[in-house]
Amino acid sequence: MCAKKRIALYGGTFDPVHVGHLEIARRVSELFEIERVLFIPAQTAPHKIGRLVTDPLHRFAMLVLATQDDPKLKISTFEIEAPDRRYTVDTLAHFVNVLGDSSELFFIMGADSWAEISTWRDWQRLLTMVNHIVVTRPGYRVEGPPSMSDRVKDIRSQPIPAKLDDCRSDTSVFLTDVVMNDVSATQIRSLANQRRFEELEKLVSTPVAQYIEKYGIYQESNED
Ligand code: ATP
Repeated sequence: MCAKKRIALYGGTFDPVHVGHLEIARRVSELFEIERVLFIPAQTAPHKIGRLVTDPLHRFAMLVLATQDDPKLKISTFEIEAPDRRYTVDTLAHFVNVLGDSSELFFIMGADSWAEISTWRDWQRLLTMVNHIVVTRPGYRVEGPPSMSDRVKDIRSQPIPAKLDDCRSDTSVFLTDVVMNDVSATQIRSLANQRRFEELEKLVSTPVAQYIEKYGIYQESNED
């Protein structure tokens, strides 16, 4: 018997967390029979140049509000409490160390992140450390580096739950289309900046919409 409980790590800026992120966490959990999804907000995203990322305290608070009713969804402060910026490879090493013996780990990313994976620090090593789940996103083709093709398992349009061999020794990169949602945090920041709160309320959970309005988040645009 080599089945371990499955935990997904979901890194991102979450500025703010939106319905797309939540749908991904829930659907991916069903697909892979994952017990817990750990959102890991980044201190700043190394690749997000051109705007200031909102204070981690606000991004954390919005994650708390968005996940409070779902016991499966939790938040890690590992990156935001670090004294310096953590790269994904460092974060994965930490969680492999802490959880790897008792759990099988999966890292979730969208097709846009996957398309630029070869720009991430130590990306080849990072892809072998845990399993990865790449979720389709409108406007992005699911294309990764050709050198990785032997690790990639395309399970698009397969039934839920996915049938995975419990005793796999190698990690894989799974491509899934269980979510196809074109919401983005950029869109939400823009709506908040224009005070279009009715439209914004459809793209984030209700307490997050209230928080954005109450604290005036995104009122000052700092986008390019
Ligand atoms: P921004 O608009 O600021 O770039 P975002 O909406 O992409 O933000 P992030 O916090 O950067 O949100 O996303 C965290 C992770 O979730 C990334 O891997 C991203 O690809 C993925 N993701 C976000 N939204 C979606 C979506 N609608 N469909 C698929 N993946 C998504």
